[in-house]
Amino acid sequence: PADIGRVRHLIEQSEPGPQQQVEFHKLNTMAAFAEAQTCRRQVLLHYFDESALEPCGNCDICLDPPKRYNGTEDAQKVLSCIYRLGQRFGINHLIEVLRGSKAAPLVDRGHDKLSTWGIGKDKSHEYWLSVIRQLIHLGLASQDVTRGSSITLNPAARPILKGEVALMLAEPRIALSTVKRKVGQAKAPLNYDRKLFARLKSLRRNIAEQQDVPPYLVFNDATLAEMAAMLPTSPGEMLAVNGVGERKLSRFGGEFLDEIAAYLAGDP
Ligand SMILES: [Zn+2]
Repeated sequence: PADIGRVRHLIEQSEPGPQQQVEFHKLNTMAAFAEAQTCRRQVLLHYFDESALEPCGNCDICLDPPKRYNGTEDAQKVLSCIYRLGQRFGINHLIEVLRGSKAAPLVDRGHDKLSTWGIGKDKSHEYWLSVIRQLIHLGLASQDVTRGSSITLNPAARPILKGEVALMLAEPRIALSTVKRKVGQAKAPLNYDRKLFARLKSLRRNIAEQQDVPPYLVFNDATLAEMAAMLPTSPGEMLAVNGVGERKLSRFGGEFLDEIAAYLAGDP
């Protein structure tokens, strides 16, 4: 998020005009990719106007899939709101309408009179941002850089809007991380290896199943993230990780050290 803020600030200082719009669009696309809840390969291929029907099975999202839910209703709300807005407005405006904002740019255009105004007011801005980005990544909607990054509908949106097919979406993670931070859990380090993190989580799941204990009793997410940042290679280094004490080290430490060593040695 800090990098996004820095780059946005730089672009804001450039001359306003079409080139600046393109730069903003590229920045938003990059941010969306970083926060994607959809297979990375699918997102990339879609960016280049290609499509991959099957997830790759090998990226951090595929290895550590987010929780899914039936997002048909959320998708219908967003897609019909895009339609009501004449496919001529950007993401933020779209979210403002969904959340029932009374902001002037919206009221001036009469958008508070639309049937889709306020139909998503029970959810946060971040929640809808995540849903909209997923719809873009999945190819149901597009962001048109030639028209001020306005959101447009693709033919694939039609069966969803008509209720002919259901759509599974990933539960927005942003909301979850905010909740976690509020209850004062240890903050995960910012820079950790997400692929290793996914492997450590999968190891944790196996151990938890074998020993019939809940996964968080093995190690919590923050501890695994710190392992994936510090890359300990000895029991001593492992003890330096927050959440690893002597007992857990002797009970689980060896398996996690082996997994990290295998990962560092390039074992797939
Ligand atoms: Zn993937």
